[in-house]
Amino acid sequence: MTADPVALDRRHLWHPFTPMRLWAEEEPLIIAAGEGNYLIDTAGRRYLDGVSSLWVNLHGHRCAALDDAVREQLGRIAHSTLLGLGNVPAAELAAALIAVAPAPLSRVFYSDSGSTAVEVALKLAFQYWQHRGRLRRTRFVALADAYHGDTIGAVSLGGIDLFHRLFHPLLFQTLRAPCPHPYRYADGALSPEACREACLGEEVAAVIVEPRVQGAAGIIVHPPGYLAGVAALCRRHDVLLICDEVATGFGRTGELFACQSEGVSPDLMTLAKGLSGGYLPLAATLTTEAIFEAFLDGPERTFFHGHSYTGNPLACAAGLASLRLFGERDLLAQVRSRACRARELLAQQLAPIEAVGEIRQCGLMIGVELVADRQTRRPFPPERRLGAAVCRAARAQGVILRPLGDVLVIVPPLSITDDELATIVGAIAQSIRATV
Ligand SMILES: *Cc1c(COP(=O)(O)O)cnc(C)c1O
Repeated sequence: MTADPVALDRRHLWHPFTPMRLWAEEEPLIIAAGEGNYLIDTAGRRYLDGVSSLWVNLHGHRCAALDDAVREQLGRIAHSTLLGLGNVPAAELAAALIAVAPAPLSRVFYSDSGSTAVEVALKLAFQYWQHRGRLRRTRFVALADAYHGDTIGAVSLGGIDLFHRLFHPLLFQTLRAPCPHPYRYADGALSPEACREACLGEEVAAVIVEPRVQGAAGIIVHPPGYLAGVAALCRRHDVLLICDEVATGFGRTGELFACQSEGVSPDLMTLAKGLSGGYLPLAATLTTEAIFEAFLDGPERTFFHGHSYTGNPLACAAGLASLRLFGERDLLAQVRSRACRARELLAQQLAPIEAVGEIRQCGLMIGVELVADRQTRRPFPPERRLGAAVCRAARAQGVILRPLGDVLVIVPPLSITDDELATIVGAIAQSIRATV
């Protein structure tokens, strides 16, 4: 007899980003299997995976190419270390990433999550300036409402009060530039020049941005040209640019990497979420030969950082198979076409609803913000937890969503079909009407 997974979960699990008192009061949904763009629960019920298992899945679940790649690698070896040894899939994936990443990125440093990829980028940027003898370049610029992960360095860069405020005494001080979103900030913030003040001065090591879209902030889409402007600012002031592509990477915005839509070449780029196609924990920090070379002369210049599972062969094999699918199928064209269809569906079905304050979209990253009053943008009382209530209603209609406050988030697998998109948007429309 196997024990009831609901009972085991309730007794022993502590879920991330989850008020556990509320969790205990609800019937938990436990996933037992997946197939294509669907998740299947322990009772055999099927649900569309509307947030691609938290923005990671690209090609659907049980994708044959990825399943085979992992199985084949399992027939060779599951894991060996990258500290003092190499492994075949880690080397092959590094080459494949560099082939598609913006020049002059040329080096891949692996880790396990978006947060660790950001930690690596921070430490590389800091140490780079130390080796260059620019000892005062020790500070980082990040945007208001930024999200870069949950480890302490990444939280120091983060600007989301609800998640980050409590840890303030543990954090290093970050210089803060405004978030370029017209509805939350004054018009002046929309220009990259608003970032300029923070970048001036000899103490800045790097600027970090989520290119084009601030995901966790509520799918805040930056105005066109903003990223290119920030990149130009960084060049002008001799400051490194870190593009955190953890959420935006691997086709979500309609480009392979969001920074490519503005012709921006960062000095450091962080990848995770979609890197393994959403199969296994894998992350990478990409950087240039110029930064790499500053670490070469003398053992004291070593980058003393590494995780036990860095460059895990199973995860790298999945990543390689996933990247090959981008080459074999015209996935980016497919994403752009689906994004157009989504735009029509959202305009037809959600825009007319009174409680929908704003619909934000960049490729297949979509945020639908619910407001109590459209004119004043007055929010609903947070204690109503309306976003969560709407997502619960959508679940009853067979669509899995996870909100950010009162922003309903749609980030489906790239393999989503037009019909499945219509199902998701239809379920949201009905759920808002039934809930508000
Ligand atoms: C999700 C996310 C991270 C953190 O990634 P984890 O794998 O959850 O640690 C970092 N940066 C951005 C932009 C993200 O969206």
